[in-house]
Amino acid sequence: MCRRSEIEEKVYSLVEIQDLGFETPCHIWQGSHSGDGRGGGYPRMCLNGQTMAVHRVMFTNQYGIIPGKKQIDHKCRNRMCVNPDHLEMVTHKENQRRKNNA
Ligand SMILES: [Zn+2]
Repeated sequence: MCRRSEIEEKVYSLVEIQDLGFETPCHIWQGSHSGDGRGGGYPRMCLNGQTMAVHRVMFTNQYGIIPGKKQIDHKCRNRMCVNPDHLEMVTHKENQRRKNNA
């Protein structure tokens, strides 16, 4: 059994590949998201009875466990993108700094 490919299969059944002008095409999540408020707009999925942030699941699949305090930044600036190539692990501080400079 290979959990990793099972998860990827589940994720990619709900992803649309779109070229949004970043270096490579974005993998845009078509499922539910975390709403329109503060901290909203991030892709969500149900995995083993838990609600998970899809981009974090994909990052973990590709690169390993995310240390508790780290955040996942989208280099392509599309929050609904789950392409691991577009994700980067940053500290909260770095993430805020990037937002302020954007
Ligand atoms: Zn992207």
